[in-house]
Amino acid sequence: MELFQLSRASNVEDAVRVGATSHTAQQGAEVRFLAGGTTLLDLMKLNVEKPGRVVDISRLPLGAIEATAAGGVEIGATVRNADLANHPLIRGAYPVLSQALLSGASAQLRNMATTGGNLLQRTRCVYFRDTAMPCNKRNPGSGCAAKTGFNRTQAILGVSDACIASNPSDMNVALMALEASVHIQGARGERSVPIDEFFLLPGDTPERETVLEPGDLITHVTLPPPAPGGRSLYLKLRDRASYEFALASAAVIVTVVDGKVSHARVALGGVGTKPWRSREAEAALTGAAPGSEAFQRAAADALADAQPQSENGFKVELAQRCLVHALTLVTTPA
Ligand code: SF4
Repeated sequence: MELFQLSRASNVEDAVRVGATSHTAQQGAEVRFLAGGTTLLDLMKLNVEKPGRVVDISRLPLGAIEATAAGGVEIGATVRNADLANHPLIRGAYPVLSQALLSGASAQLRNMATTGGNLLQRTRCVYFRDTAMPCNKRNPGSGCAAKTGFNRTQAILGVSDACIASNPSDMNVALMALEASVHIQGARGERSVPIDEFFLLPGDTPERETVLEPGDLITHVTLPPPAPGGRSLYLKLRDRASYEFALASAAVIVTVVDGKVSHARVALGGVGTKPWRSREAEAALTGAAPGSEAFQRAAADALADAQPQSENGFKVELAQRCLVHALTLVTTPA
């Protein structure tokens, strides 16, 4: 680990000011906000992250979960994953989010990891975490060792010549299906970004993963009111039953009225370079009678643009089966 300055922000404005004035021309290289530290500290020990300055935001008043006047929920950026998963508002109205959170990491990690940190969780690509290997995300222009190396766990949707790394978060997949908004405070004021626009595809610049600018601080996330009559579910498939990242996962929210799907939201995890909203699957489901035929068609449409690598072709069928099974479970009467 390299030397860095550590300071504690006394309020949100202070954090944003320090973040905005300390960065260099290189995207976000100088300042990192520290809350739970479950990603950042690991990567600093590996010399993958080398911030010149770390700003502790863990004591800022961003730790509340509250109902909004619109009927949704506001989740503070420093809310712990365990607290969010077990909150009555979330368990009752947004079970897909609770299930996704509880499927991730370990109990100890969920007690530390925060909502804002989970949004910014970095890839588990082994080459990204090994500074001896070429990696365009860690060292732009150095190449991508995963293209010709170990790529069994990498993405098959949204990949580019520069990077094929999958997004590892479970929470983000549920937030994608729930159409959450990410609220940001930066040097130029506050703004809100739909989560589907928050994450960037790797393209030629895989080092840039979100729309955040240097100094931008995630303050909270909002969820819209739950879909009337909707049922939701998160299904995660992985190499072992716990403490493992998804090979494929599906977050589904479905409303059935008079024997037809009137509303469907579908997001996939473990297969995309970002949490993957599938509007193709949603279109295939909407208006259809729930059942195997519609679910198979939705799954085929969701993976139609898949670009498997040398070792992860199995993910195409795995993700399709995952989605079909999730849709079957969520539409089966209790
Ligand atoms: Fe780096 Fe992305 Fe290639 Fe992994 S897949 S080595 S993160 S560029």
